[in-house]
Amino acid sequence: MDDEKQLQLFDGFVRDAAGSEREGLVSSQPHLERVLEPAPRRTLWPETDRRDDLSDLEAVARAARDCQRCKLGGMRKNAVPGEGNPHARIVWIGEGPGADEDEQGRPFVGAAGRLLDRLIVAMGLAREEVFIGNVVKCRPPNNREPEPDEVHACLPYLARQIELIRPEIIVILGATALKALIDPKAYITRMRGKWIERGGIMIMPTFHPAALLRDPAKKHDVWADMQQVLARIK
Ligand code: URA
Repeated sequence: MDDEKQLQLFDGFVRDAAGSEREGLVSSQPHLERVLEPAPRRTLWPETDRRDDLSDLEAVARAARDCQRCKLGGMRKNAVPGEGNPHARIVWIGEGPGADEDEQGRPFVGAAGRLLDRLIVAMGLAREEVFIGNVVKCRPPNNREPEPDEVHACLPYLARQIELIRPEIIVILGATALKALIDPKAYITRMRGKWIERGGIMIMPTFHPAALLRDPAKKHDVWADMQQVLARIK
């Protein structure tokens, strides 16, 4: 599939004749920026407490569904542990469940999720072959950002998922995941499109699909970022 076809799948409403809009779609020169020293192999996010007792992804999911480590546990309909291929080469990480996800117990099934699906398909991948998760597993009320204590309580589940899957690449979707996983002071606008290495895993931050719904022009940036991801898994 050529770039143009891929993009049309990703963005059903990109204007056909918008040549100038498309100029931004060509992937920028991939660049590998080592932002931080690699962490020891087993330590992805040293600040999180470990859940070595969770022996597989199903055990992580069960623990998340029973979890009462923070106040979100008392507000959820369904926890959303994440889903996908236990041997995924790419893991995608969003912020946390919204209303649709809370209803269904599955990640990215609302409007932002449909856009993410289109992006994944446009990349020539299938949702089933990647893993999709979130920083927090329970829906924050009114879709507010998760609070620091909630992120802190929930991160061990994500860290364990990553450790079990051992993906080659993590795609960070948006500012909340970037701040939670990399640096609380990081800006997604500055760090998107730049590789970060942690514990032998290459991490590519990009905009959250919800940001693309608000500002479709950002799709150009995301598409360029995903070209770098594709180049690396070739
Ligand atoms: N937004 C997220 O960050 N995660 C979801 O699962 C859904 C929407």
